[in-house]
Amino acid sequence: MTRTLLVSGMVLFTMTNLMSAADDVVSNVVLGIHGGIGVDKVDMTPDLDKQVRAVLTEALQAGHAKLKSGGSSLDAVETAIRVMEDSPLLNAGKGAVFTHEGRNELDASIMDGKTKKAGSMAGVTIIKNPITGARAVMEKSKHVMLVGRGAEIFATQQGLDIVDPSYFWTEHRWKAIQAIWKQEAELKNKRGALPVENLPPAKKSEYGTVGAVALDAAGNLAAGTSTGGMTNKSFGRVGDSPIIGAGTYADNEAAAISCTGHGEFFIRYAVSHEIVAQMKYKGSSAEAASHDVINRQLKDAGGEGAAIVLDKTGRFATAYNSEGLYRACITQDGKVRVRLYEE
Ligand code: ASP
Repeated sequence: MTRTLLVSGMVLFTMTNLMSAADDVVSNVVLGIHGGIGVDKVDMTPDLDKQVRAVLTEALQAGHAKLKSGGSSLDAVETAIRVMEDSPLLNAGKGAVFTHEGRNELDASIMDGKTKKAGSMAGVTIIKNPITGARAVMEKSKHVMLVGRGAEIFATQQGLDIVDPSYFWTEHRWKAIQAIWKQEAELKNKRGALPVENLPPAKKSEYGTVGAVALDAAGNLAAGTSTGGMTNKSFGRVGDSPIIGAGTYADNEAAAISCTGHGEFFIRYAVSHEIVAQMKYKGSSAEAASHDVINRQLKDAGGEGAAIVLDKTGRFATAYNSEGLYRACITQDGKVRVRLYEE
């Protein structure tokens, strides 16, 4: 009796634990994307909702068209991310958040699940599409990661689109950093100078990053992530997005992953690799592994964020411990699904 109760208790516990992740699983997916944790639900307006859904759909359709014309999963990931980088709505490329010093410093990475080759860029200020810069590092250099000026010189030599730093400026991000500066000035008046590590914690609405995971006809997985980082980040701070194994990972034997959230936690918990490792070595499903890492490990540690996972069979799962996650996917036959919050 006791054993039966215990066993059914365990089954019930496991089912309850998986419920929030399981309702987000979609099969036959060839491309999945995210646009970050998004804004707090109270700040969402019908107009913004419409615009976000439109850009996510456009990114999916552009990536899907690549796949349909014989492009690789890397092509689909790069194409979808470029659309989101070009949108001022999302925190990547144009629309990136501002650093504490009032600049835009961008990070991106991409990984090929077949060869395990990867490329990334961090702290760049003049490269219009950092995801294309990351891919160039992977394919045209002997390195995995280039930062700052070196990355910018490399991108210029590769003939990538170079812009003036002012290209990345958007009014809503500028207002956000100004509000923080005001808050800091008030605190400083009350408490004296604030060391940078004591800056007020970021609010949910200050996060946001874009990412994509894809599976092509040859069965190859790829993942990519691009971001402006976290609002009010310190000059030179690098988050998880350009770090392979933290914000991005792809392995044909398991899955492709892209993350978003409080980057320091994602680096410390090697989140994207941890999800792949649980799938490979423990036999966990995409939803169970992502749920364990995001909704248990990270949540217990106080790290807010999310991951999208596309496994080698085309099952797309998402996990988030935040109020919402801008996420979308497209199946092989072109069926689009977009979600922003719990739906
Ligand atoms: N993970 C990104 C970073 O920490 C931010 C985000 O996803 O919103 O730089």
